[in-house]
Amino acid sequence: MASVPRAHLLIVDDEPVVHAILREALHADRRTMSSAATLAEARALVGAGERVDLALIDKNLPDGSGLEIAHELKERDPFAEVILITGYASFDSAVEALKVGAYDYLTKPFEDINKLALQVEHALQKVQLRRDQERLLAQLVQSERRYALAARGANDGLWDWDLHSGQVYFSPRWREMLGLSEGEVRGVAADWLDRVHDDDRERVEAALHAHLDGRLDHLQDEHRVRHRDGTFRWLLCRAVADRDSQGRPMRLAGSMTDVTERRLAEQQMQYDVLHDAVTFLPNRTLFVDRLGQALARARRHPGCRFAVMLLDLDRFKLVNEGLGHSMGDKLLVSFARRLEGCLRAGDTAARLGGDEFAVLLDEVVSEQDAVAVAERLTAEVSTPVILDGREVFTTVSGGIVMATSTYERPEELLRDADIAMYRAKTTGRGRYVLFETAMQHRAASFLETDTALRRAVERREFVVYYQPIVSLESGRIIGFEALVRWQRPDRGLVPPLEFIPIAEDTGLIIPISEYVLEAAVKQVRAWQTDGVGREQLYVSVNVSGRHLAFPGLVDTVGRLLLDHHLAPASLRLEITESAIVENTAAVELTLAKLKGLDVQLYMDDFGTGYSSLSYLHRLPIDTLKVDRAFVTNLGKEGENSVIVHTIVTLARVLGIEVIAEGIETADQLSHLRALRCDHGQGYLFARPLPAEAITELLRRNPEW
Ligand code: C2E
Ligand code: MG
Ligand code: MG
Repeated sequence: MASVPRAHLLIVDDEPVVHAILREALHADRRTMSSAATLAEARALVGAGERVDLALIDKNLPDGSGLEIAHELKERDPFAEVILITGYASFDSAVEALKVGAYDYLTKPFEDINKLALQVEHALQKVQLRRDQERLLAQLVQSERRYALAARGANDGLWDWDLHSGQVYFSPRWREMLGLSEGEVRGVAADWLDRVHDDDRERVEAALHAHLDGRLDHLQDEHRVRHRDGTFRWLLCRAVADRDSQGRPMRLAGSMTDVTERRLAEQQMQYDVLHDAVTFLPNRTLFVDRLGQALARARRHPGCRFAVMLLDLDRFKLVNEGLGHSMGDKLLVSFARRLEGCLRAGDTAARLGGDEFAVLLDEVVSEQDAVAVAERLTAEVSTPVILDGREVFTTVSGGIVMATSTYERPEELLRDADIAMYRAKTTGRGRYVLFETAMQHRAASFLETDTALRRAVERREFVVYYQPIVSLESGRIIGFEALVRWQRPDRGLVPPLEFIPIAEDTGLIIPISEYVLEAAVKQVRAWQTDGVGREQLYVSVNVSGRHLAFPGLVDTVGRLLLDHHLAPASLRLEITESAIVENTAAVELTLAKLKGLDVQLYMDDFGTGYSSLSYLHRLPIDTLKVDRAFVTNLGKEGENSVIVHTIVTLARVLGIEVIAEGIETADQLSHLRALRCDHGQGYLFARPLPAEAITELLRRNPEW
C-alpha cells in the first residue's frame, strides 16, 4: 500500500502569536503547515491547489470573514476539516461553525493548549479515516471492474449470497452454464446446492461452513452440478465472505467456472493409466488396488471371504506367432468378454499382461464356491471361437487361492495364485488348481534349487552314470544309457528327477544336456579304444523336449562326433513321447536332421504318455524303450503281457527294435525273452554306475 502522506494544516490568522502557539502545540515536525495572515493570502494558497487536511481559520480577518475561505475549502475538498477560531465563545459562533460544516471551534486566547492539541488530533484522524475509506472504495471499484472483466473473459458464472436475507443473486452466465432460464432460478442457495451431485454435496457443505466459520480463508471446491438436461457439469467454485467488524460473515460472493472438459480429460487419463488398452479390462495396477481394498474389507469383516484366480491362455503364443498379432489381440478381447460374462456383480476381471488374466471372486464363502466358479469359467472359455472366419481353440490353466487372514498384501495372494497356476500348467493344461500351503514349500524349494542349479552349471557339478543295455538273446552288453546326477557339494548325489524338471522350466536343461552329451561321447569313445577295446559299444543320451526345440542341437551333436572321432552309429538319442507330440513340425525337422547325421533315435518311456502308435511310422524312430511300468507287472496279471506283446509285434512290423526298461527279476527276464523282446536294461543286470566302475566291469568280464 502507498504510504499515507503527512497531514497538512493551514493556519489563517492575523495575529503572529497565534501562529507561534499553534506551531508549538501541534508538533509542526510531524505534519506540514502553511500560514496565511489575511483572507487574500489564504485564498491564494487554496486556489493554488494545495492539499489541506485541516484548516484553523480566524473568523475575523482584516480583509473579510474567515467563513468565506472555510466555504471554499469545503467545496473544493469535502473531506477537509475546518476548526473556526473566534474571539469569544457564543451560541452564535457554534451555529456559524456548523453552517460551514466546521468540525469544531476554538476561542481566543487559548485556555488549554493540551485540549487544543487533542481536538486537532481528533479532527485530523477523522480526515484521515475518511480519506482512507475513499481510497479503499476507489480501489474496490477498480478491482471489481477488473474482476467483472476477468469473470466475463473466463466465462464464469457469478453469484452473491446475502447471508441475512438468504437471497442469492445468480448471474445470467451462471444460469446459462446449467441451462436454466430466469424463471427457473428462485434466487436462493438451494438453486445451487440442491443441484450438487449426491457424492459431492457433503464435501461442498463442509467447505462452505469451514469458510463461513473462518476456518478456511476462502472457499474453493470442484463439484458436479446437475444441468437442466440431467447431465452433470463439473464446476469450480471460488468464493470469499464479506465480514462485519466482528468477523461475522454477511455476504458470500463467488464465481463458478465450468471445468467439465478438463475433468473428463483427467478421467480419461486416469482410466488409461488403470486399464489395459487392448481389452479395456482393469490392468495390474488397478487389480492390485482392488485386492488391497478386498483385503482391508476382509480384515474389518472377517466373515467376508474372497478368492483370487489367475488364468493363462494355453496356446496363446501359437496363435500370436502363427496367425499374427492382430488375431492374437482379437483372441484376447474375445476371451476378456467371455470372462466378464461369467462374473457376478462384485467380481473384478483384469488383464495382468500378455496372456495372463486375473479374477477377484468377491464373497466366495468356501473353496467349493471358488471351484464352482472356476469350473464354469474354464468350461465357458474352452469352447472354440470364430475369429475372422477361423475356428480358434483356447484352453486356460488357472490357479485359485482363497484369501485367508494370513494374507496381508495383494502380492502374496497373486504369488500363491501363480504357484497354483504353475501347477495347473505342469500337470497338463486346460485345468485349474487350488492353492495349498504345501505348494508354497515346493515353490520355495523350486527357487532354491534353481539358484543352486545355476551355480552347479557354472561349476560343472554334474557326473554321468552309465547303465548297461543288454542283448536279451546273447546276454552281452551292447551299449549304455547315460544318466546324469548332480553332485551337490552340500547334499551329495541328487537323482535327475529332482532337478531335471526344474532345469527344463528354467532353460538350464540346455547347458546340462550339452555337458552330458559331451561327457558321454568322450566316454564311449574311450571304451571303444583305450584298453577295453569294445568297438561296437554305443551310448544313448536322454534329450529333453526343450533341447530338441533348441536350434543349436543338431550342430552340437555333429561337432561332438567329429571332435571325438565317434561313429554316428555309436550315439543314440532318447526322446520322450510327450516331447514329440507337443511340438511336431519343428521337432520333426530336427529329428530328420539328426537322422541325416546317422544318429539313431530312441523313443523313451513308450506307453506312458499319449500311447499313440499312429505317429510311429511317421517319425524316424529306430528303437522303442518300453516303460518300466509294463515290465514290473509282467506275468502277474495278463494285461501287461498283452501290451508288451503288442508293442513288440508292432515294432517288428515297422522294423523298430525294442528295449525293455527296469528289468529287476529273472522272471521278468524270461517273460520278455518269451515275448521276443530284443534288448533289456535293469537292476537285474546292473545299476547305473560311474564311468570308472563300468571300465572295471568291462575289463573283468570280457565275455559280457
Ligand atoms: P529314463 O530315461 O527312463 O532312465 C531310466 C531310469 O530308470 C533311470 O533313472 C534308471 O536308473 C532307472 N532304472 C534302470 N533300471 C531300473 C530298474 O531295474 N529298476 C528301477 N526301479 N529303476 C531302474 P534315473 O537315473 O533316476 O533317471 C530318471 C530319469 O531322468 C530318466 O528316465 C530320464 O528321463 C531322466 N534323465 C536322466 N539323465 C538325463 C539327462 O542327462 N538328460 C535328460 N534330459 N534327462 C535325463
Ligand atoms: Mg532314458
Ligand atoms: Mg525311460
